[in-house]
Amino acid sequence: MSEILPKEVFYCGVCTFPPEYCEFGLSFKRCKQWLQENNEALFDSIYSDEALANATSTLSVEKQAKISKELEKKQAKEEAKLERELQMKLASKVIIKRIERNKRKHVIEISGLEVFNIDMKKLAKTFASKFATGASVTKNAEKKDEIVVQGDVSDEAKAYIEKLLEEKGLNEVQVVQEDDKKGKKKAALAAAAAALSATGGVPPPAQKTR
Ligand SMILES: [Zn+2]
Repeated sequence: MSEILPKEVFYCGVCTFPPEYCEFGLSFKRCKQWLQENNEALFDSIYSDEALANATSTLSVEKQAKISKELEKKQAKEEAKLERELQMKLASKVIIKRIERNKRKHVIEISGLEVFNIDMKKLAKTFASKFATGASVTKNAEKKDEIVVQGDVSDEAKAYIEKLLEEKGLNEVQVVQEDDKKGKKKAALAAAAAALSATGGVPPPAQKTR
């Protein structure tokens, strides 16, 4: 028996298969590019003209041509899909809305994260411990998940989300901060209504916390 040498197995960083199998996957174009950038020796051993000429196949040439044509079509479709997804991501933005509950209390609502494959529950947990506050995932009016964080932490949350997006190579995505004036307006209207009823001789309703 021959000695078994520990062999370092090299996997494709795109499709995770051994690079010899990349051509059968749908990400072949990106696989090939990745390999050239990350392991040129292996790239040459698979894709150099010489290597390609030596590659033998048990399939008939005709059959092989048909298969590779079908695969090419699928691969092109996959490329187009990924490109569309990327464009959609780049065109999306994250909105951090800062809402004033009263003079001292704020909450922030973070929406628009769902496009970017960010685990929102995990992120809410991170914010809760990072800012020592309450944070949760709730559905907004459009039935989409958003993260609600107690406290005036809009700037900190923005910095953190920008870092997350950058890690995903999406640093072009905008993270927009907004101030919600609606909460304030509502409070002002309530105050005005209370004042009006006060002048009408009706005692203003006692403020109760729900
Ligand atoms: Zn691959």
